[in-house]
Amino acid sequence: MISIKNGIAVSDGYAIGRAFVIAGRNDNAVSEFKGVDTEIDRLKTAIENSEKQVEVLKEKLDRKVSGKESAILDSHINILEDPEIVDKSVGYIKKNCCSAEKAVSTVIGKLAEMFKNIKDDEYLKERAADIEDVGSRILRNLSGRKGIDLSDLPKQTVVFAEDLKPSETASLDADNLLALVTQSGGPTSHTAIISKAMGVAAVVGVQGILDAVKTGDNVIVDGFTGKVIVNPDKAAIDEYSKKQEKFNENLSQLYEYLNVKAVTKSGKRIVVAANIANVSETEQALANGAEAVGLFRTEFLYMDREFLPNEEEQFSAYREVAKKMGGKPVTIRTLDIGGDKELPYLPRKKELNPFLGLRAIRICLQKKQIFKTQLRALLRASEYGNIRIMFPMISNLNELLAAKSVLEECKKELISENMPFNHEIEVGMMVEIPSAAIMADEFAKHVDFFSIGTNDLTQYTLAVDRLNESVAGLYNPMDPAVLRLIKNTIAAAHSNGIPCCVCGELASKPKAIPTLLEYGLDEFSMSASSILTAKKIIVSSNNS
Ligand code: PEP
Ligand code: MG
Repeated sequence: MISIKNGIAVSDGYAIGRAFVIAGRNDNAVSEFKGVDTEIDRLKTAIENSEKQVEVLKEKLDRKVSGKESAILDSHINILEDPEIVDKSVGYIKKNCCSAEKAVSTVIGKLAEMFKNIKDDEYLKERAADIEDVGSRILRNLSGRKGIDLSDLPKQTVVFAEDLKPSETASLDADNLLALVTQSGGPTSHTAIISKAMGVAAVVGVQGILDAVKTGDNVIVDGFTGKVIVNPDKAAIDEYSKKQEKFNENLSQLYEYLNVKAVTKSGKRIVVAANIANVSETEQALANGAEAVGLFRTEFLYMDREFLPNEEEQFSAYREVAKKMGGKPVTIRTLDIGGDKELPYLPRKKELNPFLGLRAIRICLQKKQIFKTQLRALLRASEYGNIRIMFPMISNLNELLAAKSVLEECKKELISENMPFNHEIEVGMMVEIPSAAIMADEFAKHVDFFSIGTNDLTQYTLAVDRLNESVAGLYNPMDPAVLRLIKNTIAAAHSNGIPCCVCGELASKPKAIPTLLEYGLDEFSMSASSILTAKKIIVSSNNS
């Protein structure tokens, strides 16, 4: 039976395909106590399985590289074999008559805390992360939870889910995916961002959709209006086939802007750049006429894997992007996890308000070794192109100065190791927290550029969760309060002689582009699929 639902349209395009429904996922499932002996057996099996997985990983890794990562996995095996963890967890189950999950989280939590509190020994402090990492692996094995594999989809698939985790969106099979539909999520959720980058239609926040659709159903997705049709009749299929044809025709006409330089009618040269999340998106960026990479969201390099990427791995990813862009600027943002982006191997305490908690630069300044590994890789890659480093989520000057001082420390290390890098590398910051926008004139004295993250700036200014479909109606990046902060930031950049970019979703909104030009914005950075339309609007704009 035909069923029509409506949600928030977040990525243009039409899709006529077949549904693939991801359902029944419950990441927070906590097992009930099933008796002391059963829980002890479950615990021992989960530890054994964890050890086998780490052994397999280590074997794979040893074939590729040697050294630091392999040593990390050795240390994980040691932790898993440590009688203290097994014995204490068994003791905890016996004493408290509780589930193996409860015992493992308590024992691991206490042990990690003990390491974290060791003063003046960075190495031992970092060991806490390994312990937590091992803990989360055991918990995953206890729950039998596995990541969902979306890397091999049937042809012409429309994926339906409650929501997609960033690590899941990163593994999507681009060849066979037509559209994404989620029951929850707001206009700047990662489903929205990724779908634009992939150039597929997407609708989020479609209430009740998972009750209306099942895998294999024929479906239509309208990425312009947010309409989703399950089991469409012939009339609907005909109507949407025509719309799709027209859309494709318009798309091919836009290609005349591919090599056009974005100069406004009054002669101001505007840089139109791409947001990317991995190395392969550089090609899409260039194919769509990007003149720079304005935002490389590096957290995706850290996702969908079992352990942290090491310096060499990161170095080769950043170098490849820099080389592919052939001297064009590549702005690489340091790790922005926390909020909705979790790394399975870096478990953290549950937070009541994760977007206001340990996120991005706050984590990097606490986990200095992780931060330094990334900064060293970025510096080394700067030899191969025009790389610029950008810090996310800066809320006060101390954070910015602390981040810059870690960067200086890395530079000194590389100099002493005779490693080449661009000593004049530009350093910028995201302006995405109201405090940074308000104090932009102070921050501008310490950076080479600003990039305004309107996705977060909107949620923090208006107190509207960017991922929550229930308040999506209040999420308005063109609210006068947000616009005033943007205007203030651009003016502060210019009075201090530095350029300003917008890399949040607002940069690609046709209605917003003239306003941003009027404020004097120098650079727009967006998903590759939006670049040609943006260039078309800029060259015909009278606003700058
Ligand atoms: C932003 O906040 O606008 C931004 C570009 O960063 P992200 O969407 O990755 O938080
Ligand atoms: Mg942000």
